[in-house]
Amino acid sequence: MKKTVVNHIIIMAIAIVAGGMLAKTLHEKQISTIPSKSAISGVPIGGFHKFASDVKWMLFINYMGSLQTINEDNKDEVVKRLEQIIDLNPNFEQAIHMGAMSLSNASPDQAVEFLSRAIASEDPTLKKNWKLPFLAGFILMHYKQPAQYSEAARYFRMALERSEGKPEDYVINSYLRARGNANGIKDARLALLDSLVFEWKKTSGDLMETTIIPNITERLLVAAQAARDSHPGDEKVTAIVTEVSATLGDKHICSSCLHSYGPGDNFCAHCGNKVKPYGQCSACKHVLKGNFCSNCGVKAK
Ligand SMILES: [Zn+2]
Ligand SMILES: [Zn+2]
Repeated sequence: MKKTVVNHIIIMAIAIVAGGMLAKTLHEKQISTIPSKSAISGVPIGGFHKFASDVKWMLFINYMGSLQTINEDNKDEVVKRLEQIIDLNPNFEQAIHMGAMSLSNASPDQAVEFLSRAIASEDPTLKKNWKLPFLAGFILMHYKQPAQYSEAARYFRMALERSEGKPEDYVINSYLRARGNANGIKDARLALLDSLVFEWKKTSGDLMETTIIPNITERLLVAAQAARDSHPGDEKVTAIVTEVSATLGDKHICSSCLHSYGPGDNFCAHCGNKVKPYGQCSACKHVLKGNFCSNCGVKAK
């Protein structure tokens, strides 16, 4: 080895040791001013927390590539490596997300544990992240045996609240299904409808609360139509359809199937049910096109 190279290495080693000593002092001062920090991070290694975490992350990806599957034999090693990475950099979103996904089958509890720590973080970016609570809910609903629906619904709701008013449809539907499943309804369509009715009732009637679900009425109509088609004659679905059509009577929807009908229609084009016509001339029943009847000239009321 060349002498200059050796010198460089010695200088680097001294710098790292000195940096580490300085970091230790700073860390102690930090703990005395902000005690909660000590719980989040250990003594920095030469001040290169993030760097060390990135290196371990690359080694982790390499290690994961060598595994056929994650199972009982290797899951503890996977957890240990992930913990080291996240301890060094608690805001490492990619490691948290991918780590939880890789563990979701072999160890759903551990996967949710990683996510819940990041979800509770005060870090400004993590606090706004909706994908982490969504993944936690997804694991609890689809991987955990037996599924934990109400806990899943709690995480999905959190994902909705973090979506800044523009949640993805699959997040909305996951929340609604999990809520319905938590109420003991097994069928996916009926579970969705049950939750939609609950959210819709908040906004109608005396309560006048707001719902976290955008376009609630449209979603309810579509879900009720689908449930009626897939569960014909189901008492609960029929009762919901009747209640919804009575509340939305002025929207010209069929009381039997909740599909909308047009001016002059006497029967529903979807199910053949007799409907209350509108948009007709009071004298000759011709469909009105403007202020006067185009057939008999009577003024429209
Ligand atoms: Zn109809
Ligand atoms: Zn007329």
